[in-house]
Amino acid sequence: MRKLRVGIIDVITKGPTKALWGRVMNANFASIMPQVIAVWCEEQGHDVVLVPYTGFEELTEELPEDVDLLFVGAFTQAAQLAYALSNYFRKRGAVTVLGGPHARCYPEDAVKYFDYVLGFTDKETIHGLLAECAQHRPEGVHLSAPTHPVALPGIRERWKHVEKTLRKAPLIKLVPMIGSLGCPYSCSFCIDSVIPYQPLEFDVMTEDLRFLLTQYKRPRVGWHDPNFGVRFDDYMDAIEAAVPPNRIDFVAESTLSLLSEDHLKRLKANGFKGILPGIESWYDMGNKSKTGSAVGMDKVRRVAEHVKLVAEYIPYIQTNIVFGIDADEGPAPFDLTKEFLAMAPGAFPAFSLLTAFGRAAPLNLEYQRQKRVLPFPFHFLNNNHAMNVKPKHYDWPEFYDHVIDVSKFAYSWPAITKRFMATPGPIPKAMNFIRATSSEGFGRIKYYTEVRRLLVEDRQFRAYFEGESTDLPPFFMDRMREDLGPFWDLLPEGAIHHDPTAYLAAEEQAALVQVEPPPVDVAAAGG
Ligand code: SF4
Repeated sequence: MRKLRVGIIDVITKGPTKALWGRVMNANFASIMPQVIAVWCEEQGHDVVLVPYTGFEELTEELPEDVDLLFVGAFTQAAQLAYALSNYFRKRGAVTVLGGPHARCYPEDAVKYFDYVLGFTDKETIHGLLAECAQHRPEGVHLSAPTHPVALPGIRERWKHVEKTLRKAPLIKLVPMIGSLGCPYSCSFCIDSVIPYQPLEFDVMTEDLRFLLTQYKRPRVGWHDPNFGVRFDDYMDAIEAAVPPNRIDFVAESTLSLLSEDHLKRLKANGFKGILPGIESWYDMGNKSKTGSAVGMDKVRRVAEHVKLVAEYIPYIQTNIVFGIDADEGPAPFDLTKEFLAMAPGAFPAFSLLTAFGRAAPLNLEYQRQKRVLPFPFHFLNNNHAMNVKPKHYDWPEFYDHVIDVSKFAYSWPAITKRFMATPGPIPKAMNFIRATSSEGFGRIKYYTEVRRLLVEDRQFRAYFEGESTDLPPFFMDRMREDLGPFWDLLPEGAIHHDPTAYLAAEEQAALVQVEPPPVDVAAAGG
């Protein structure tokens, strides 16, 4: 096989930035799969340069000019940046590949701009691709393994890439680890809800943790499992076998249903410092909060009690809540959120607006059938800058009124002060303060307020939200141009827009093919 010069860009942010938060934290949000692909390419003897793009790099300087094969890993909000990068490197002769959540959610769109688009990706998929490494234009090839890989290279094998990435994190360095893929729960909006839960090898985890202790005095690990701790005892045994008590700090995303007091005691003993449970809704998804059929105020009370219990053991808690799901109606979901924040003031509230990410979840087909999915450019699909599903029970100004109201409550000075007082330790206190007073808290209130104003004052803007026009309002176009900076001019033709019903169209086409009668064998039929 020809030795290839392989470039890999882990696109962590959606454009160039100068933000202090980005400087401090972006490198900590690097993905694991680009590092895995780097290892698999190196195993095949290729030269690999992996660049984690945190928004501060000159990519053309960090990657060799004459890359043969470029992998780009991107979330959907970075799709436009990814398309621009592919266009730039294709013009220089490279074959380009897209992986990551955007490739999984929007393959029909991504094949227009990449030679290969990856679904599930295992070692064989990458080996096959490396062996072929050919241009596929105008339409790329969609490759997918039958399932997620059963094993991934551990930290030791990925270390040079992990270390290079974390050199870009000046204060807090979070080493990315993963112990499982998929999730046994079925939250209707989630990409992992349709992926069967599958633990990775626990002895590799133990080995990785031992190795990590030889590299950093007091490492910090961020678990990338969609839902950490489903096989709780196996995880804790693997950690305890390698790590003396409280020598590594851990952060994980986990459901409240897994956070019983016994589990919390063990998590605390093993150095867990941050936990991110998803509440999602006061009217739905009770199984993951262990609140069963309780809804409304009853669920608020139970979740608040549980979160306060978690706070006795884990210093940093972020609770995730989604607004705009079909079960929401009237002011109640927002008022209940305020009640919850008053009862559990130490937890940082992370709000999301319902977003249907293409093929991420089967429920998105239903939204597309109901013609409720709007064509906001991918750049705005980060759960906040645009809600691309028309809400079932709200008109738009009313919905934004509620979102602004609850955000003003959550990021008000009294709430910030209470959170500060209720959170132990300088790092959790500082994190909560910065998040509330930066673009995430204050910035979003300003942004939502401007969207609300335009919804009532600008007919064209409102028509786009109502699905009556597909002309992107200048508010979004200007913002995207500004965010992308020099990458704007590299965007290929058509890359700003996409078909928001591509998933439905593909499913209907597939169904048609299935019911078509088989061709008649004329000879056998005696004709
Ligand atoms: S519990 Fe979390 S990871 Fe699992 S399906 Fe629900 S949102 Fe997704």
